[in-house]
Amino acid sequence: MDQLHEKLRDIYEEVVRRNNGETEFHQAVFEVLASLGPVVDKHPEYVDSEVIRRLCEPERQIIFRVPWVDDRGTVQINRGFRVEFNSALGPFKGGLRFHPSVNLGIVKFLGFEQIFKNSLTGMPIGGGKGGADFDPKGRSDNEVMRFCQSFMTELYRHLGEHTDVPAGDIGVGSREIGYMFGQYKRITNRWEAGVLTGKGITWGGSQVRTEATGYGTVFFVNEILKHAKDTFEGKRAVVSGSGNVAIYAIEKIHELGGTVVACSDSSGYVVDEKGIDLDLLKEVKEIRRARIVEYAEKRGGPAYFTDDGSVWNVPCEIALPCATQNELNGDEARALIRNGVRIVAEGANMPCSPTAIKAFNEAGVVFAPGKAVNAGGVATSALEMQQNASRDSWTFAETEARLEQIMRRIHNRCLETAEEYGQPGSYVAGANIAGFIRVADAMLALGLV
Ligand code: GLU
Repeated sequence: MDQLHEKLRDIYEEVVRRNNGETEFHQAVFEVLASLGPVVDKHPEYVDSEVIRRLCEPERQIIFRVPWVDDRGTVQINRGFRVEFNSALGPFKGGLRFHPSVNLGIVKFLGFEQIFKNSLTGMPIGGGKGGADFDPKGRSDNEVMRFCQSFMTELYRHLGEHTDVPAGDIGVGSREIGYMFGQYKRITNRWEAGVLTGKGITWGGSQVRTEATGYGTVFFVNEILKHAKDTFEGKRAVVSGSGNVAIYAIEKIHELGGTVVACSDSSGYVVDEKGIDLDLLKEVKEIRRARIVEYAEKRGGPAYFTDDGSVWNVPCEIALPCATQNELNGDEARALIRNGVRIVAEGANMPCSPTAIKAFNEAGVVFAPGKAVNAGGVATSALEMQQNASRDSWTFAETEARLEQIMRRIHNRCLETAEEYGQPGSYVAGANIAGFIRVADAMLALGLV
């Protein structure tokens, strides 16, 4: 609590009291408020107008039943969510997560982070997030389709290209976006491309959207390296996860001359000193949707799978947590530090626990937070919306060049803002303050709504 400016303490206390038990949401709010002390000193109007208190309360929260029938004919009931957090900068924008751990607190933490992330991109998108406690693991294609159709049958009434525009997140990729887009089109009788992003290339999607979060993460780290007059050439990296973010982070690191020696899934991790074979990883995870142990079995040689300990015990200079929230704790941070890690950048949303971040700061490790590092995914969603609005489609090279430029701007903005507010070199302070100011100024301009 003493990390918080005195004018912000009661706002945080109120968040904890009114959102009982939603620990991830409390954590996400605390991290932002802890950065805002110098802003409040310089601009008391943000406190006087209650813009910070308003930011902590979602504009609208939707919770709904999702009934569907599995392949055995049994009725299944899941719970669906959409938290429309803030629309000062544009329509609510943010992904949908299908995972058994999804609950209101998780969706609120993700939605809250999304406000600042989307603001940092400089694009006209507000913040929101949604999902369901549906577990796609082991489900047939038909079951996933029926689930998506039932989910959209309720959610469609809240969406629209100028209202709320979901996309993917954990458990939701272009297959699920396709089933949801199909159901939206059927119910509304509108081929409204801009209502969802992450669509397939042949039906309104954007080049590079699939790769964007992973590529953008590595572009951001490349800017950190450039800033230190260094490059990826010859660097050893560990990337946790093996989903959409991890796979394309690994691809870009290899393109830039680094070597990723380990990655993981929820069952354990693989170590491959020769560098992860990406074609094989894609076959196992994207095509076969199998467990990562199959990677080691097929790869052979010295590559191995283990579920003993943590992927963060594998020595590396660059660590990219790209799996899920709070996947890297204080002990794991200390193991990374002992093994000589220099840069930690969050490809996932809030993967490092507060104690891990504290350990990195104390050890002088460069730490960059997810809301800046992984903003390339949603930024490319905004590029998809731009192409949809003008009924255009750009080439891969053009879209990738725009993504790289956006990541460079976010990186520079973080550093400039951190400097301006007396915390040079702090990507956390820079990201939180720069993200906050853009959205807070818009809220002030729009009056009390
Ligand atoms: N789920 C992604 C994120 O965490 C992407 C959201 C989007 O493209 O709308 O930013």
